[in-house]
Amino acid sequence: VTALLKFTRTKQGQYEWIQLVGHPGTFKEGLHEGYVLKALSEKERRCCELLQNDLLKDFVPKYNGTVADEEGKHYIEMEDLLASFKEPCIMDCKIGVRTYLEEDLDTSERDPEPRADLYEKMIAIDSTAATEKENEEKKILKPRYMMWRESLSSTEELGFRIEAIKKSRGLMSKEFQRIKKRDDVQQHIIEFIANSVPRAVQYLNRLIELRSICLQSKFFQTHEIIGSSLLFIHDANRASVWMIDFGKTILLPDNIHLTHTQPWIRGTHEDGYLIGLDNLILIFKEIIND
Ligand code: ATP
Ligand code: MG
Ligand code: MG
Repeated sequence: VTALLKFTRTKQGQYEWIQLVGHPGTFKEGLHEGYVLKALSEKERRCCELLQNDLLKDFVPKYNGTVADEEGKHYIEMEDLLASFKEPCIMDCKIGVRTYLEEDLDTSERDPEPRADLYEKMIAIDSTAATEKENEEKKILKPRYMMWRESLSSTEELGFRIEAIKKSRGLMSKEFQRIKKRDDVQQHIIEFIANSVPRAVQYLNRLIELRSICLQSKFFQTHEIIGSSLLFIHDANRASVWMIDFGKTILLPDNIHLTHTQPWIRGTHEDGYLIGLDNLILIFKEIIND
């Protein structure tokens, strides 16, 4: 489900909130100025709390604890990263060589029932994707579907994919799920930054700093980071990028240490976070040098 959500603060007039991806209703206006509420997930709350005292602190939204609304629905309150920008352009890149947890794959494998709905979804996207047997049954197993879906985008190869882009005043576009080729990804990034080299330099410097902090961060060393995004935001004056969305980021068992750079093999928990970050860094470098 993808939604474009806006709420306008009548008090201050100007303010506009834009949500690129995720379910509508997940976000609400914050209790404090410059903050938003996101529907509570325990995994994410835990990460937000840890990150406030980690070296990565300046690369994540500030976290302000949890709140409940009148209906008893719980939220985390976090910094609205858009608040300091004027008519921002926004890009959400989901980082990593896979976007599901190993435990999600385990769960899906415990369900031995092939599914017709997933088969239909697959065929609608690529009529040649199913095997002969799957075509006969017109059904497909969930783990097979999950793995196939990752191969559609640049996720597997580049370690990131563009989820959505919103240009200032322009329409939001989310037709990115099937962009796989490096050149195409690069072209979309060039368009996003409106071909501005100074902007590319600001993004690049921030990404390089993020990479160096990741290598020293306790949080980064001890977590499998899945389905998390880098949120790129710029306006006429400034460009910067932050880590968001920790709903599928989990603490690693003591005996597992990630490189974040090795390709994923089942059981290793490798997330490919640095594969994605390095490819983004290379792409921005190329944009600057071309
Ligand atoms: P999904 O898991 O489907 O990616 P989600 O419900 O976990 O979605 P997020 O990915 O955290 O939600 O956020 C969805 C969108 O909301 C982002 O792409 C971004 O546009 C916006 N957003 C999220 N957090 C912030 C923030 N702190 N400041 C500004 N915008 C944000
Ligand atoms: Mg997200
Ligand atoms: Mg999420």
